[in-house]
Amino acid sequence: MGKRFDVLLFPGGKRKAFTLSYDDGVIQDRRLVALCEKYHVKGTFNLGYGVLGYQSPEGMPFDISKVTPAEAKELYKNQEIGGHSLYHSDLTSLGSPYAIYEILEDKRQLEKIAEKPLTMFAYPFGFYNDKVKELLKIAGYKGARTVNSTYSFDLPKDPLALDPTCHHNDEKLFELAKQFLEKPVMKASLFYVWGHAYEFDRDDNWERIEELLKMVSPHEEEIWFATNSEILEYLEAYKMLEYSVDGSMIYNPTSTDLLIGTSFHTVEEIKAGTLTHIKDTPL
Ligand SMILES: [Zn+2]
Repeated sequence: MGKRFDVLLFPGGKRKAFTLSYDDGVIQDRRLVALCEKYHVKGTFNLGYGVLGYQSPEGMPFDISKVTPAEAKELYKNQEIGGHSLYHSDLTSLGSPYAIYEILEDKRQLEKIAEKPLTMFAYPFGFYNDKVKELLKIAGYKGARTVNSTYSFDLPKDPLALDPTCHHNDEKLFELAKQFLEKPVMKASLFYVWGHAYEFDRDDNWERIEELLKMVSPHEEEIWFATNSEILEYLEAYKMLEYSVDGSMIYNPTSTDLLIGTSFHTVEEIKAGTLTHIKDTPL
């Protein structure tokens, strides 16, 4: 037995993960989803069920029409659908019964579209507090995204306050992308970009997101492209690992297969529901 430290490795032994999170179910998601598919990138699309099908009035400076529920089913089938409250309400301003209705009715309806329980949420306007976090937990949400940029690739500390790396319009976007690609990493890293697809029309900058996806997409061998919940589920499963005192046995009580890298340069597969024996590798 000797000194050892273990690091989380993403599926395929990768140390980097990349994900997108886009809000409101606007019709510009059609173009964004097509780009995700073209570049094999995945994202989570957070929808307010009550405003799906909304038509922007004529003469608006930019179109914020929403896709219909029927279109959402088809459009997001290879992506992830997340909740965003039924009518895009500031949940911190509402009493609990009303707030939980906004959360639950949105979730109930969206689950019919997604055909599975929803686990991801994005706070409307980015507003949240401890009460809203608690209500999301009761509703069965496992993760919720904020609008607070970390400008880092650190793994999230609080699943119900998932701070993204940055917004796609952030002036540091490409500098961060470069760092993410070039930086040799020991620790697992996450590049997490958010926004609203209507902003690409409003700002006439679709080339910005395409450029970003073009940069990251050829690095599939070292980057895990996954939805928000796929990444969160993996991170949460990792936290559940049960170690023996001498580090030689690790039990994975979850249903997610995990990989760890040890400082002895070994990669250990810790299969779901299985006790794994780690070979004693002296320093
Ligand atoms: Zn929104």
